[in-house]
Amino acid sequence: MPIFHECQRCTACCRWPGQVRLSDAEITRLAAFKGMAEREFIERYTKLRSDRRGLTLLEKPNGECVFLDGNNCSVQSVKPQQCRDFPNLWNFHGFEKTCHAIPRVVGQAEQVRLIAQATQRSSDEVARLLESKL
Ligand code: SF4
Ligand code: SF4
Repeated sequence: MPIFHECQRCTACCRWPGQVRLSDAEITRLAAFKGMAEREFIERYTKLRSDRRGLTLLEKPNGECVFLDGNNCSVQSVKPQQCRDFPNLWNFHGFEKTCHAIPRVVGQAEQVRLIAQATQRSSDEVARLLESKL
């Protein structure tokens, strides 16, 4: 049954422990958004991932993402793909206990369209990713 989880912007996913993986292109976009050189951005806002395979965003001392500003993502327009993809393209067992996204049963084409819109991916890409999860 195709389901679309409609985000309620509760920001719980910006507050729980975990790493936000960053691709090189995302670092370039985020640094430009902040008006910083990439090296400066990397030094100020990132650290090595625990698997040492790349960089992750820093967390504040209280555990929330360094870019969470009250109840808003301060880099919303350029936030990493990992943030956009949750919870429709990845999630974890029991995520519904904390995430307030509303699950809606939708048609298959509607599911692809809505997820593409939410994740800013192309419909073809979303369709492929959903298929690979089956
Ligand atoms: S980058 Fe934005 S959306 Fe992603 S975890 Fe940080 S505050 Fe949340
Ligand atoms: S994805 Fe879930 S946890 Fe994250 S902001 Fe939306 S409703 Fe909240």
